[in-house]
Amino acid sequence: MILKCMPALILLVSVIFMSLHSSVFGQTSPANDVLRKRARAIHEKVIALDTHIDFSPAHLTGERNYTERLDTQFNLPNMIDGGLAGLFFSIFVPQTRESQNAEAFAAAGYERAYKLAVEKFDAVQRFAREIAPDKIELALNSTDARRIHARGKKFALMGVENGYPIGNDIARVKEFYERGARYLSLTHNGHNQLADSHTGERDGWKWNGLSPFGKQVVAEMNRLGIMVDVSHASKEAMMQIAGLSKAPIIASHSAVRALCDVSRNMDDEQLLALKKTGGVIQVVAYDGFVKTSKPDSSERAAALAAARKDFNLPETVGPGQRARFQASVKKLSAKQRAEYEKKLADIDKQHPGDAPANLKDFVDHIDYAVKLLGIDHVGISSDFDGGGGVVGWNDASETFNVTLELVRRGYAEEQIEKLWGGNLLRVMDEVQRIAREMLK
Ligand SMILES: [Zn+2]
Repeated sequence: MILKCMPALILLVSVIFMSLHSSVFGQTSPANDVLRKRARAIHEKVIALDTHIDFSPAHLTGERNYTERLDTQFNLPNMIDGGLAGLFFSIFVPQTRESQNAEAFAAAGYERAYKLAVEKFDAVQRFAREIAPDKIELALNSTDARRIHARGKKFALMGVENGYPIGNDIARVKEFYERGARYLSLTHNGHNQLADSHTGERDGWKWNGLSPFGKQVVAEMNRLGIMVDVSHASKEAMMQIAGLSKAPIIASHSAVRALCDVSRNMDDEQLLALKKTGGVIQVVAYDGFVKTSKPDSSERAAALAAARKDFNLPETVGPGQRARFQASVKKLSAKQRAEYEKKLADIDKQHPGDAPANLKDFVDHIDYAVKLLGIDHVGISSDFDGGGGVVGWNDASETFNVTLELVRRGYAEEQIEKLWGGNLLRVMDEVQRIAREMLK
């Protein structure tokens, strides 16, 4: 989940348009057909695992839930269409910034967060056990993931985004592990009781890295076999975690700062420190971290808003709105869509905007990380339903496009297998093996 202002959202209309018409990725020619066939064969063989997808409990347990094609980026029909094998559901809990709420770092704030975390754990468990047990199953380690995949079912794992709901109670780390958590990021946006967040680059620091309790939590995660996730942490906190952790660490959804200079991304020094632990960066397909687009001119923004109104399309003001908008465009009749397409082309001509982040921009981040770290330390994540927004991979049904672009760039099957989850599953096993060793 990413809560931040997103200038690139204004460009969403053209994103959706390009996505729907596959004008960038869907050209047909004999050479492309051969490539597509090869990519298809590889995609069917590898285990495609996305390490960060947000959800609301209602989407898992409500009357209308992820077994249907909801207006969300992720749902089971989309997952099946895109050939996505497994995912980490994000047990995300927001927090109120300390300055805005006196309860934020007191028992009442922690309790509220803890209850929400439990509600999310329970929703995933219920979805897998009661609502769609014939389609998806919970995995707790890589053996589970491979076994479930081999039986033709989807697998779900869980990762906690934000250690805030731990409160000051170290026992909750074990409780979260027992509820199924296999990674946990100490922070989200805003400092908490465990560590500084990347947002300190704007707001200043609280701990200059980890708090004393945050250090204990890292040790406890090592002891239990939970992967320490450094996405959202400040650079200093991340470097301290890399130094402290006895097991490989991960960034469950971050991109490369050298290509897109935002505080949520990782610079080369951080990436090399992560590699030194044996860990992996799961490069995220979130448009604002893939490419820093210039905001639209007021004329362009007004023209796009008017077009949306003409076609009865919803506003596009936040991450949760993206999928709803995309679904609304898909529901237009062919004639309406053609008219809408023409309207957008006119707007592009009259008031050109910066091109939105696309699949090629995204795979540039993968290429960069692979060149810097080697093929064993890079993976893939979407941040669907908390972000996403990359043209070409903007919902789970488009997952094959990532493999196609990797094949186009010359990646071999065994490399793609590592990127699409092989590396992450290796790290998860290693973290659990180290935990068992520590018990002896
Ligand atoms: Zn996030």
